[in-house]
Amino acid sequence: MSDTNENAATPGAAIGGRRGLMLILSSPSGAGKSTLARLLLEQNPDIYLSVSVTTRGRRPSEVEGVHYHFLTRERFERLRDAGDLLEWAEVHGNFYGTPREPVEAALSAGRDVLFDIDYQGAEQLYEKMRQDIVGVFILPPSAAELKTRLERRAEDASGVIEKRLCNARTEIAHWRDYNYVLVNADLNSTFANLRNILLAERLRRERQPGLEPVIERLDRELAELVE
Ligand code: 5GP
Repeated sequence: MSDTNENAATPGAAIGGRRGLMLILSSPSGAGKSTLARLLLEQNPDIYLSVSVTTRGRRPSEVEGVHYHFLTRERFERLRDAGDLLEWAEVHGNFYGTPREPVEAALSAGRDVLFDIDYQGAEQLYEKMRQDIVGVFILPPSAAELKTRLERRAEDASGVIEKRLCNARTEIAHWRDYNYVLVNADLNSTFANLRNILLAERLRRERQPGLEPVIERLDRELAELVE
């Protein structure tokens, strides 16, 4: 292979070095988004997961710095006011935000970045960085299934589950803001669809900055052949 396509062995590798893309996953709580994100990261260790800051209390299964950076409201407000967050929102009465610096560093290094954020955050990122964004909205197959999944997780008090179900309607109303919508009735097929979306988006013409010299060479070769 020519040196313009040195990453050809990686599925979906673009021709030429490129800026990373921003893969946003949003869904109502309990639609399976976190599981899909975990599977994607397991299969693509080169993807950088944006770890948000939040004022929400840590769940027993969560690890500081892995799932979130857990902050007091004061520290959150300081970061936000200093412009250190790429986007932020209040969700279920808590603040959540995306630290700016690690995302910008990953994108410029050509790494794709995965975001598990809500529609308010997605809206802000679409406004600022539309070219870089691939937004995927995950829907549960039914309301009953959503409730069951939240109860099975059993990490939230029942009042919190109620609140999350109420918020699901608001979340779902924003499905049109996203490039792709997946109904997560079956985890394996939803995951396969998500991988295919990523693969196709990596191969978009505008994400392959090294194409031009390849086309020029092909054209020269063809011209010689038909002369
Ligand atoms: P949870 O409390 O269940 O971890 O997250 C609640 C909601 O907040 C989820 O929809 C999640 O995607 C969203 N969220 C997590 N981090 C961020 C963030 O940094 N920004 C925004 N806008 N939403 C976030």
